[in-house]
Amino acid sequence: MAARFQKVKLLGQGGFGTVHVVIDIETNRVLAMKTLKKGYPSKYVADELDNHQLLRHPHIVYCEEVFIDDTSLCIVMEYANCGSLLDLVKLRRGLEEIYARWFFQQLILALHFCHNRGIAHRDIKPENLLLHIYEDLKYPVPILKMCDFGLSKAVVLPGASAKSCVGTVRYMAPEVLKNNEMDYDAMMADVWSCGVVLYVMLYGRYPFDSKGADRVISKEQKVRRMLDRMKREAYVLNPDVSVTDECMNLLRGMLKPAPDQRLTIEKIMAHPWFKKDLPKGAHEMNTDCLNEPVPPKHQKLVEIIRLLRMGCPVGRLLITNLRVGTTFGEEVPPEEGTLLGAAGREEEVRKPPEQPIKVLSTQAPSRTGRRASRQRGSQPGRPMTCMPFSSINWCESMRGAGRGRSIAFSVL
Ligand code: ATP
Ligand code: MG
Repeated sequence: MAARFQKVKLLGQGGFGTVHVVIDIETNRVLAMKTLKKGYPSKYVADELDNHQLLRHPHIVYCEEVFIDDTSLCIVMEYANCGSLLDLVKLRRGLEEIYARWFFQQLILALHFCHNRGIAHRDIKPENLLLHIYEDLKYPVPILKMCDFGLSKAVVLPGASAKSCVGTVRYMAPEVLKNNEMDYDAMMADVWSCGVVLYVMLYGRYPFDSKGADRVISKEQKVRRMLDRMKREAYVLNPDVSVTDECMNLLRGMLKPAPDQRLTIEKIMAHPWFKKDLPKGAHEMNTDCLNEPVPPKHQKLVEIIRLLRMGCPVGRLLITNLRVGTTFGEEVPPEEGTLLGAAGREEEVRKPPEQPIKVLSTQAPSRTGRRASRQRGSQPGRPMTCMPFSSINWCESMRGAGRGRSIAFSVL
């Protein structure tokens, strides 16, 4: 099985494994494969698989296959070919509002879908928001794809309210960061993280870090200071960065320390800043995705955990096209009408690119300070394709078009 996927390039290294670009030598498709070596925490991995397989959305990395070989658990996914949102924000030292909105809208649509499927992500950050440029588009527009459901939580199940203090400190909501073992609303905590992502996109820095002063203090003190700043809503607003009042209003609403005062995802989607230049059909696209039947689960979570704990080769786990079988290497024939199915995916079959990894710009950012960076986007040699966003109907093809097909195909 593993031999079917030829590793081409290392993409990332996490605590428990690695992510590679791979080529499926049977189909010539370029994919990404996350390989977790034995010793991974089986509870979280089981949640990751259990939750990720339910999520089929154009702005969520598609989880295609999972298998166990002799040494590792391998998750085969759609490959996002343009790095992460963090890479882009770093490269450009912040994004202008128009670009920040473009990514933010896609993030919120993906999250709205997750939440309506009953799943909270709990680790939303630019590193987990990947970018993909479809080769056959007229303009190279990066499309956002949410990934990494390693800390996700199914929150609609009875008794499944979130308690664990998980996430990435700088993006964690204050009620999570307090770590007092109290139940918290994981969906509202996701909203907070999206607020931090928006801030990071706009300002190119973290909202609750203070410059230099915090470096010498302990981690606990650091967290306490961050919490204090969160409570006081004391984030630095660099006057050199021009942000409209509407955008500020949305940002403030998302970074409310009290979850019950924070904007809900529905309110965000109804906010004028969010709605501006939102392509026609965006809401309908999400409704259509939600109306798709939930992929049937072939194994219960406990069974997945049991298999993961047993390891291989005896208890082998396979998810094929989001279907779980119990026998290693056995392809489960598709059941008619129950899944988004292979047809939609086949449309995405692509030849391995000659240069597998694309970058948005080859020029490294200069270190000439923030003021210089305000001209981002207009610097020669660093083009960011400027698009008339309002004229892009990026969601249209999701309606009634090939299922599983990305909206990007309809964008341009
Ligand atoms: P971490 O602990 O760093 O979050 P992780 O073990 O949770 O790592 P992921 O976040 O899923 O793993 O992946 C790590 C990195 O690998 C991502 O930040 C991204 O850069 C890259 N990556 C993951 N999945 C893909 C993909 N489908 N396409 C392209 N790159 C990917
Ligand atoms: Mg990650």
